[in-house]
Amino acid sequence: LFSAVEMAPRDPILGLNEAFNADTRPTKVNLGVGVYYNEEGRIPLLRAVAEAEKARLAAHAPRGYLPIEGISAYDQAVQKLLFGADAALIAEGRVVTTQALGGTGALKIGADFLKRLLPDAVVAISDPSWENHRALFESAGFPVQNYRYYDPFSNGVNRGGMLEDLRSLPSRSIVVLHACCHNPTGVDLKLEDWKAVLEVLREREHVPFLDIAYQGFGDGIEQDAEAVRLFAESGLQFFVSSSFSKSFSLYGERVGALSIVTNSQEEASRVLSQVKRVIRTNYSNPPTHGATVVAAVLNSPELRALWEEELGEMRDRIRSMRLAMVEQLAALGAKRDFGFVAEQRGMFSYSGLTVEQVERLKTEFGIYAVGTGRICVAALNSRNLSAVTSAIARVL
Ligand code: PMP
Repeated sequence: LFSAVEMAPRDPILGLNEAFNADTRPTKVNLGVGVYYNEEGRIPLLRAVAEAEKARLAAHAPRGYLPIEGISAYDQAVQKLLFGADAALIAEGRVVTTQALGGTGALKIGADFLKRLLPDAVVAISDPSWENHRALFESAGFPVQNYRYYDPFSNGVNRGGMLEDLRSLPSRSIVVLHACCHNPTGVDLKLEDWKAVLEVLREREHVPFLDIAYQGFGDGIEQDAEAVRLFAESGLQFFVSSSFSKSFSLYGERVGALSIVTNSQEEASRVLSQVKRVIRTNYSNPPTHGATVVAAVLNSPELRALWEEELGEMRDRIRSMRLAMVEQLAALGAKRDFGFVAEQRGMFSYSGLTVEQVERLKTEFGIYAVGTGRICVAALNSRNLSAVTSAIARVL
């Protein structure tokens, strides 16, 4: 049965973690990770989460099956966070939200449902994108193409190239867009760019699939939802995958959601019935813990205020690490201006380091980054920063 099974290629980031763990140098730093570490170099357990967990534990609630679409209070809280508490499409019952196994699970349910709706569609993702986007949509049976996105010369967005590529896709293609804090580059579209993109999608009848995995890590909870709100007001039908892995520091609990914006309440109920079939045949219904905790926090004014404060602390710490990195590199006389790092948003930065420079950082200095030059700014802290910046200055 298994004699012809080939070894699958190793996940490059997991391979990096293994090499990091085996490194015995005490000064080693892992910038290859995709999680937020606090100033102490640990994944935080948010106080708002701990409070909600205490109450949940005390309640000794039975663990029956959840509805297929998840906890209703959770799904509603997700909608308000994404579209705004007073959004017309919520009041009109035009949006369907189902709890999902993280942002990844939301993308997978959305992809499987889309395959039934548009079996011959092409999926387009940014160049570069989160590495799982391509694999997810390919495994759902779609051909996946790239649209131009990152411009290495300006360290910004190749807006003209992006619009041109979106225009030349077959009409009714599925276009995956990072709503904020682009992974891996940290480079986001400005509001004017979003408007231009939206008009091309409308003209070409493409299906937008907004992926928002870092709401609150860029400029703020409301500000980071700017693109989602723009689409919500556009009258287009679209998909949104969202995740609380980062914003609640609940990576392992797998808390995300899929939201689908339709044209009417009646359409929404038909869409929901089909999405439920997809979920039912994949894993039947979602787990209880993470979504119960998130719903408890979002629906309690006190815990919500505490969460917003803690999320703000994470966001501010990342920002201060970006600024300190730029300053230190300039003070060290680095042979490049790293000012663009301060303009990027979210946990990641495309640093512009080459494969060779990344390799030297690892072998000579014990500093681990992804071969593309992606570094996780959220893994920097005041103790490891100077080691990182001086090593970068040396390899340039
Ligand atoms: N989309 C993007 C752009 C991501 O960066 C990630 C996580 N790294 C996800 C989706 C998946 O999120 P989750 O861990 O909640 O599945």
